[in-house]
Amino acid sequence: MKLSPKEGKEGSEVEDNKMKRIILFGAPGSGKGTQADALEQQYGWEKISTGDLVRAEVAAQTPIGREIKPLIEMGQLAPDETVLKILKNRLAQGDLVNGYILDGFPRNLAQAEELTRLAVDSETAIFLKIVNDDVVVGRLTSRLTCSQCGAIYNSVGNPPLKTGQCDLCGGPVRQRADDNEETVRRRINVYREQTQPVIDYYKRLGKLHEVDASGTVEEVSAAIAGAIN
Ligand code: ADP
Ligand code: MG
Repeated sequence: MKLSPKEGKEGSEVEDNKMKRIILFGAPGSGKGTQADALEQQYGWEKISTGDLVRAEVAAQTPIGREIKPLIEMGQLAPDETVLKILKNRLAQGDLVNGYILDGFPRNLAQAEELTRLAVDSETAIFLKIVNDDVVVGRLTSRLTCSQCGAIYNSVGNPPLKTGQCDLCGGPVRQRADDNEETVRRRINVYREQTQPVIDYYKRLGKLHEVDASGTVEEVSAAIAGAIN
């Protein structure tokens, strides 16, 4: 379902005409990808997952992909300029109508500031909060991902109907190379050091909504809907 454009509403016309940008951030395993998929279905906004875009470069063995493969396999972030270039290319495709959901971007303060400069879209930043590391470690070590379309499954809670095969596109469903416990713990540390400051950035701008992300997928979706509306 596409959201109808707002009509005849009070307030600034400029604000109403802006593209809606939802920024989802939180620790690895907090459910960004899962919730971005749900929002895409619900509101007709495009999901833009910088992680999926980066992994596609790696899979296609492009020059960029070859450069960043060792980094992401070690749980490190790809360089800011590289991710920005990939993101700008995606935003320039001209298919974004009502809005888009950023899943996994910005990952640090420099990226957040660059995003603010890059586009004047109307932003809502949603922080998917999970306090207990073991919850996200559990989710990620049981996560399965379609390497063709990026669909997200879970071997415990939400397996594909046919083992190893994506329900949506028929592509291969596997564990991501960086979804082992050691790498996941390292990614959580990177998140603490680099992504936490992004929370304060959006708080200062008055755009931050904090959502408890430790519940079921449906509970988290309901909390996000409450924050958006
Ligand atoms: P992120 O994109 O933030 O790293 P994902 O959306 O890929 O997180 O979710 C990580 C794993 O946890 C996946 O296996 C997914 O199916 C599962 N998952 C996502 N949200 C929930 C939830 N609310 N409860 C339980 N499992 C979840
Ligand atoms: Mg993700």
